[in-house]
Amino acid sequence: MISVIVTGWSPRPMNVLRTASSAEKTERPHYRITAHYHDESAQVTGHVTVTLPAKQVSDLREVYFHLYPNAFAHWKWGAHTKPKQPGYLHVSRVKVDGVSVAQQVKETVMKVPLPQQVGTRKTVRIDMDYRLQLPKGGTRLNTFKRTAFLAQWYPMLAVKDQDGWHIEPYTTIGDPFYTRMSDFEITFHVPSGYRLITSARDPEDPVQGVVTTLRRHNVRDFAAVITKDYEQVQGKAGSVRVRLWYLPGMEDVAQELHDAAVSGMKFFSQRFGAYPYDEVDVVLGETGYGIAGMEYPGLVTSIPKIPTRQGERPAVNVVVHELAHQWWYGVVGNNQVKEPWLDEGLTTFSEFLFMHDQMGEDERELLIRAAEHCNRINRKTGVTSVESLYRYSDLVYGLMVYTRPAAMMWELADEIGKDKVLRILRTYYQRYQYQIATTEDFIRVANEVTGKDLTPFFDKWLYFKTR
Ligand SMILES: [Zn+2]
Repeated sequence: MISVIVTGWSPRPMNVLRTASSAEKTERPHYRITAHYHDESAQVTGHVTVTLPAKQVSDLREVYFHLYPNAFAHWKWGAHTKPKQPGYLHVSRVKVDGVSVAQQVKETVMKVPLPQQVGTRKTVRIDMDYRLQLPKGGTRLNTFKRTAFLAQWYPMLAVKDQDGWHIEPYTTIGDPFYTRMSDFEITFHVPSGYRLITSARDPEDPVQGVVTTLRRHNVRDFAAVITKDYEQVQGKAGSVRVRLWYLPGMEDVAQELHDAAVSGMKFFSQRFGAYPYDEVDVVLGETGYGIAGMEYPGLVTSIPKIPTRQGERPAVNVVVHELAHQWWYGVVGNNQVKEPWLDEGLTTFSEFLFMHDQMGEDERELLIRAAEHCNRINRKTGVTSVESLYRYSDLVYGLMVYTRPAAMMWELADEIGKDKVLRILRTYYQRYQYQIATTEDFIRVANEVTGKDLTPFFDKWLYFKTR
């Protein structure tokens, strides 16, 4: 994500599939979802079947799901972020392998008990009905005019790892989401004339009163925009279809931002490794309070223009930032609640690299000033760049999680050379693709690639350790 605060804090705003084989498929959860979109009531209703692979359920007593839309039912955060109309995600008729069970829902978390004899089972199939009410003016999950933004909109499996279940609560700072790779098969029923723009390869034309089934394997999430309002610019980056979607009134930036999206996809593919899917969509428009841009697998959002001292200009850096997340978050995952710097820091560095190499912008001074400011914040509060989301205020979050790590990577490039830094990122991308990486993993790769012990360097920059 980029928040408006992050892009706006500085004196000069930051100029400002692989198809799975059947063997792989059994390693990942599979979602089969039917989604009936009711435009009059701004609701989506239907059925979800989640099949969990044997490997992930062998000793489980229960399974947790995130029902993030419930955050918009009774807004607990600031009045300025409160949606104009609430939203929710209600789940009913939950069954495990065909047997009804009593789910427990507490705000944005749902617990589904599994029957006892789990040890010998092969896979677990969980069925449920759902009713999603879209909020108006919600952050990410939103609806306006004849457009619905479906983000974190279905019951999302929580992650269980060595630390146990991750059922951390929703928050308005950062992206409080943590998911593993899954396979999706979603059958949309939408009224005639609506378009589907999603994480999958999308139909060419608006839907004419028919049912559309879309599939995408090996992604962390599945986002969708259902719209009658958007127009597109289409092109290619290598074999990847790049589509930019804009609303009436945004014609003046559409072509330039599409060009930026295409060159961004090429730039990152060449430097970090291939983008493994066949399409990416860039959807312009503000998708909720405070959000300049947001990333989902195969789909990103961005505001069309960004304010600078010289006036408004096309939001090239936001588009490119969100696209870089396809590599850092989309393919190489991390726990965005526990270590948000890992995807945001690398993504901000990627964005700065693009803006420097392709757009001729030098933000060195800004990065140095921001890094120094972080030193002052750390001395005062003890907060570092490697903290969970809940430890940060809005402003400190942007500085510690985005800007400081970007400054760190730039400094590293000065010390060991840009080629070596790119080799670190390529190796990290290759080694942890489709997995969850940690700060330790990243540092290990950096040490290995350079043949040096860079741990003191990262300790200083990320943890503010002085030796
Ligand atoms: Zn971001």
